[in-house]
Amino acid sequence: MAILGDILEELGVVALEYHSDQTFHVLGNHRSWFSHLLEKIEPFSEGACTILQKDEFCLKFPFIENFLIDAEVSWTEPNHESIRSGLWTETTHSDDEYQLEACACWIDGQSILLIENHSNSFVQHHAVYQKARDIALLNEKLVSELNQRQRELQNEIEQRILHDASILGVAESIKGNTSAVMICQADGKVEVMNNALVDIYQIESESDLKRASLLDQWMQEAEEQYPELKNVIEKGSYWEGEFESIGSEGSSHWIRLTIGPVKESSGVVSHYVCVANDISAFRQTDTNLGGGFDITTRLPNRRHFWQHINRLIEKTLPEGKGIGLLYIDLDYFKRVNDDLGHQAGDFLLSAIASRISRGVKHSDFVAHLGGDEFAVVTMMIQDSEQLLSVANRLLESIHEPLSVDGQPITMSASIGVSMTFEEKFDSTLLVRQADLAMYTAKELGKGQSLFYESNMDYNIPHKLQREMELLEAVERNEFVLYLQPQISVCSTEKMRVEALIRWQHPEKGLLAPGEFIAIAEESGLIIPIGEWVLRSACDMGADLVSNGKPISIAVNISAKQLKHKDFYDSVVTCLETSGYPADLLELEITESCFLDDLDAVIVLIQRIRVLGVTISLDDFGTGFSSLNYLRQLPVDFLKIDQSFVQEISIDRQSQAIISFVINLAHELDIEVIAEGVETDEQLNFLIDRKVNFIQGYLFYRPMPLDDLEGCLSKIEDLCGENPALGVRTI
Ligand code: C2E
Ligand code: CA
Ligand code: CA
Repeated sequence: MAILGDILEELGVVALEYHSDQTFHVLGNHRSWFSHLLEKIEPFSEGACTILQKDEFCLKFPFIENFLIDAEVSWTEPNHESIRSGLWTETTHSDDEYQLEACACWIDGQSILLIENHSNSFVQHHAVYQKARDIALLNEKLVSELNQRQRELQNEIEQRILHDASILGVAESIKGNTSAVMICQADGKVEVMNNALVDIYQIESESDLKRASLLDQWMQEAEEQYPELKNVIEKGSYWEGEFESIGSEGSSHWIRLTIGPVKESSGVVSHYVCVANDISAFRQTDTNLGGGFDITTRLPNRRHFWQHINRLIEKTLPEGKGIGLLYIDLDYFKRVNDDLGHQAGDFLLSAIASRISRGVKHSDFVAHLGGDEFAVVTMMIQDSEQLLSVANRLLESIHEPLSVDGQPITMSASIGVSMTFEEKFDSTLLVRQADLAMYTAKELGKGQSLFYESNMDYNIPHKLQREMELLEAVERNEFVLYLQPQISVCSTEKMRVEALIRWQHPEKGLLAPGEFIAIAEESGLIIPIGEWVLRSACDMGADLVSNGKPISIAVNISAKQLKHKDFYDSVVTCLETSGYPADLLELEITESCFLDDLDAVIVLIQRIRVLGVTISLDDFGTGFSSLNYLRQLPVDFLKIDQSFVQEISIDRQSQAIISFVINLAHELDIEVIAEGVETDEQLNFLIDRKVNFIQGYLFYRPMPLDDLEGCLSKIEDLCGENPALGVRTI
């Protein structure tokens, strides 16, 4: 054993044997780096053997915790191949860093965990890898800025066509633009194009292009990689994406393209506006760096996936064997990413990527198509049952809890499945079918897998359609602001309300934010919507002030909105144009605003507070690090989330948390608002704990401005009294 220990030491490996009493026994003696790490755990010894408790081990090394979930599964299936964790970094008490990788294997009837120290080679690789990643990220950032510019230009041109009917005027204005622009009639005939387009395609005279419609060519090229494209366009929706395009000389370009319809008021499409940029330079470096692999998950990317699947057409499978495709899309990933920050999002993607890879055969092909989409191509399939069982196994493994910064997170996914037995199959069709089945699975409630069926309606553009609808709502001004009073428990100084948005939908009636805010955030429409909210709240507030009713209005600000570069300016503008006093305006932000870049957000908020505007921290307690950094955050109010309030009567823990939070906040000079108060019991408890304001159905539901004005004097009476004794309106 001693010599084994020396050999392992030489290799930088420590071997641990896992026992059914949830302990790990270190095999052989360990020295140097592992002892150094173990200082965190304080293991105990039995004779010469060092023993670690699993719980303690997981607590101090959270990465191991995630890996052990998978490892334990593999140890119960002795035929399973060994599995690896991927690299992670561990810091010791004295701040030394170690780059480690774990491997779980089954040797001679024993569950073995190997921990390998890769620190030396890591330092060298890391420098190179980090550079590559920086460049790749910079590329992505540039492409995404370009994207934004394309969308703005697209929108601008659409508006001009709609409002200033002269196409010639529009043509003149885009002549020198660096983005390629093409405007087609509804039948695809090119009406206008600019010089940049001629540059990309090296076309001598405009007429060449006009003859062979470039739109058709683009559609064909793009459709090979985005099977949904045609349907999106046919339904009159907007599309954007990137694809490889062949120029007139046969040269290939990576084109980033947006296609948007211009609709007359009758809803008929009159033109298509296409904005394109040549992004070959970015994609070229990408390929050099990653060689067709996704930088986060290290899986083959979308391009690589298409190459692979097109190559399969040349393979002949034995009679009766087919090719199966699983299209996997994580549910609510966007929200996790926004709430926890990109780093955590990347971590989740890598963890799920490795679960998918481990859940399929070695010969299967797993790709990361981008964002939260993955695909598995599997060969030698007998029937759909076999494929569905693979899909369900993947769903289960994705659903196993993961831990991010010590916080348990459970993910789910929707999987679409398609299959072909044809020798010369149509790869685009196979992908389209799996994609369609995946969308149907999502529509039916997520977290499930579905096999493609021919009667599935092609409703991929659903989401896009909802986005379009929302965009129209912005243009048609279909939003209204409701106001919900906050009753002051201990003073009468100021009257306060929270502004809550509603959508007066032409068909569906009044919609609550739960039905559209998430789509608005995902699509970026939260920026114009949020600006409308801010402006309307200030206008309302200014009107109230001029009627002798100075009421403080709290406006909800989403993280995306806060981080938008023009946010500060728009606050200033709204205050100036409305004349609403800054010290009556309050912004409600959530902890997720601080996640990505704590320091920058603090600076921004401090600037806003200098204007006199107050800040409240919304949904407190549902976030991720809460109390730890409350001291650092420049906020005036803290809103205890309704979930705690609603558990007051049943859960002593919620009671304890509320009391603790109120005390801590008061110590930091932060006032506390309790929201979602619905019962007398909750009210009494909160008053007892010296909460400052109460918001909830017990007093008032959110209401339109007119209704609010009708009950202002009653609210005034309630404030400052012990509201528990006062008049009550529901
Ligand atoms: P929130 O900021 O936590 O707002 C409080 C929500 O709780 C509101 O729901 C309110 O109607 C509801 N509520 C108030 N009192 C009670 C009560 O006693 N019991 C119960 N069960 N619920 C109560 P609403 O209006 O549906 O808004 C939902 C969320 O949508 C808001 O949660 C906020 O995050 C978001 N939101 C609303 N308006 C805006 C907006 O203008 N901009 C942004 N970015 N988000 C908004
Ligand atoms: Ca709020
Ligand atoms: Ca809230």
